[in-house]
This record gives sequence, C-alpha cells and structure tokens, in this order.
Amino acid sequence: MQVVVTIDVEHGDRPAPDPLGALRRMLEVLDHHGAPASFFVQGRFARAHPDLVASLAERDPTLGTHGYAHVDYRRLTPDGVRAELADGVRALSEAAPGHAVRFARLPHGYGNDEPAVQEALRGASLVSVGWDFSTYDWDDRLTVGARTARALAALERGGVVLLHSWPPRSPDILAGLLEAAGPGVVCSLDDVELPGRQVSGATMHRERTDLPR
Ligand SMILES: [Zn+2]
Repeated sequence: MQVVVTIDVEHGDRPAPDPLGALRRMLEVLDHHGAPASFFVQGRFARAHPDLVASLAERDPTLGTHGYAHVDYRRLTPDGVRAELADGVRALSEAAPGHAVRFARLPHGYGNDEPAVQEALRGASLVSVGWDFSTYDWDDRLTVGARTARALAALERGGVVLLHSWPPRSPDILAGLLEAAGPGVVCSLDDVELPGRQVSGATMHRERTDLPR
C-alpha cells in the first residue's frame, strides 16, 4: 500500500482566517509523523513568500509547480499555456535556486486531456500529477469527519491524496490520515509508479462515488 500526500500551496480562492498558519500546522503534523508530502506551489504564492517556498523545497525534492496565476488552462492559447508553466517554474526557481522542478499540478486539474497542454508539459519537461482522492478540505459545509473519511479511503487501495495549504481544517484532516496510516504507508512521489498513470503523466481521477461530499 502506497499513499502519496500532495498539498497544493496557493493563495486560496475563498476566504480563510489564517492561511499561512494552516500551512505551518500542516508542516508540524508532517514532522510529528516523520511523513513526506509533495508540494505543488502556485507561482504567485512563491513570489509572495519566497523564504517559505525555499524551506518547502528543502524538505521536498519533488516540489512542483501549480502554475503561476491558477487559471483554467483549457481557456488559454498554446502560447498562454507555455507562458503560464514557464512563469510558474521561474517563480519557484527564483525562490529556491537549484531546485529542479519536475512535476506539475494543473489548477483544478483542468486541461490534462488537451493535446496543447500535454505538448506544453512535455516541452517544459514536466510530469503532470493528478489525484485519486480529493478531500474537499476547502468545503466547510462538510464535517471534518466526512472530509477525513475521503482521505482515509486512500488507505484501502493506495493512491494520491489532494489537500490544500490554506483551509483551516486541512491540518486536522492530514493528522487524521497520518494517524490512521501507520509507518511507511505514506511515501514520496519519487517512490511510486503513479496509479492509473496516463500518457500525460496524470493519474486517473478514481474518485469513489459512495462517499459523502
Ligand atoms: Zn489550486
């Protein structure tokens, strides 16, 4: 069983009381459990918090780009997609000089199936990483238990879990997952063949449909 925890590090797209505090608590949870996570960082966030992003790159050799402005790539021209990816990678490289950016998470997961997006990813030598289990950690209408249950589903079959850096309950959901996982289950992107990997490099979105959302 292999589970990869991925955290999209970004300016949230809805109000959050203490976004940087939530990320700090997630890092504390990871340290407490000695568990790795893979971070996907929005370029604009890296510009705003370069020191923080440098420290994330130090702890995560797989740290990748979450684009620059967090837009829907399906609505961009091929030149626009290339520019978005390049700006995102440049922002990370300037925050964390020497860090090799090898992975990308497309904003909202949109565009993985578009040939122009796939070509731009190949041109930038980036492997797109999707997710198998979205926690809906941003959705405060759900109880923490319901959101944690979505993460725990990964322990039944393995896969990639999606969390975000800024929702106030993300640290609690992460703690619930790591406590239930036990040692050695949560691993790095570098340790796994991404399940259901497609030509684009994305994982298939194998969301379970029987869980409350
Ligand atoms: Zn995002």
